[in-house]
Amino acid sequence: MTTTLALANQKGGVAKTTSVATLGAALADLGHSVLLVDLDPQACLTFSLGIDPEDLTASVHDVMVGHRSASEVLVGTEDGPDLLPAAIELARIETEFAAVSGRERLVATILEALADEGITYDWVILDCPPTLGVLTVAALTAADGLVVPLQCETLAHRGVGQLLDTVHDVREHTNPLLAVWGVLPTMYDGRTSHARAVLETIAETYDLDVVSPTIPKTIKFAEAPAAGRSILATARSSKGARAYRDVADWLVVRAARDA
Ligand code: ADP
Ligand code: MG
Repeated sequence: MTTTLALANQKGGVAKTTSVATLGAALADLGHSVLLVDLDPQACLTFSLGIDPEDLTASVHDVMVGHRSASEVLVGTEDGPDLLPAAIELARIETEFAAVSGRERLVATILEALADEGITYDWVILDCPPTLGVLTVAALTAADGLVVPLQCETLAHRGVGQLLDTVHDVREHTNPLLAVWGVLPTMYDGRTSHARAVLETIAETYDLDVVSPTIPKTIKFAEAPAAGRSILATARSSKGARAYRDVADWLVVRAARDA
C-alpha cells in the first residue's frame, strides 16, 4: 500500500523542500521505497538532490501536459528515493490549466499511470510550491495526508487558516479522505518561550496535531543542498538528521494507524 503525503504551506522558506528531501532519505534508509515529486517551478528539491534542472530533457511538466510518461521522466537519486524532477516550465501550469476542468487531478493521474505500469512505492512525498494554486490543490487531491512545515515565529499562523480552508474545499470537491496529519515545527528553537507559545497557539487555534519531534535550527541544512545530498548523508549524526529520522519513524507509525 502506498501512503501519499503532501508537504504544503504557502509561505516560502519554512523548510518544505528540506523536509521532503530529508524525510525521503530517512524513509529510504528504513528500507521503504520512496518517490519524491517536485511540484515547485523553482525546482529546489530537484537541485538539492543533485540534479541540475537545466540539464533535464524532460520534467514533471512534460508528464502533466501529456508529452512524456511519468516512467520516462523518473530519475534515481543518490539519497535513495526516486524523483519526478521539476524545471522552470512548471510555472506555466498555473495559467495553462487555470480553466481546464479536471486540473485538480493532475498529480493523482500521474501516480495512477505509474501504478498502471507496475511502478509503486511505499511512500510518495509531494513538495508543494509556496502558493495555494493549481499545483498545491492537485497535490492535496492526490494525498492521503498533509503535513504542514511551520516556522514558529510571529505571524506564522497567518496563512494556516487559509491553507486549512483549501483543505476543506479539497475534501468537499475532490478528495474527501484527505487527512491533516499535523504541523511539523521546523527551525525550531525550543529554548525560547516565544517559539513554544507560537506552536501552542497554532495547534490549539486550529486543533492540529504536532508532529514529533520538532526539527531544530542547524547550520548543517544550509550546506546540504550544494552537495546534492540531504543532511542524512552530509551530516549523519547532526541533531537535525536525528530529528528527521525520528519524524520518519513517526510517519511510519502514523501510516500504520490508517492502514
Ligand atoms: P521551503 O521549501 O518551504 O521554501 P526550504 O526547505 O527551501 O523551504 O528551506 C528554506 C531555507 O531554510 C533553506 O536555505 C534551508 O537550507 C534552510 N533550512 C531548512 N531547515 C533548516 C533548519 N532546520 N535549520 C536551519 N536552516 C534550515
Ligand atoms: Mg520549497
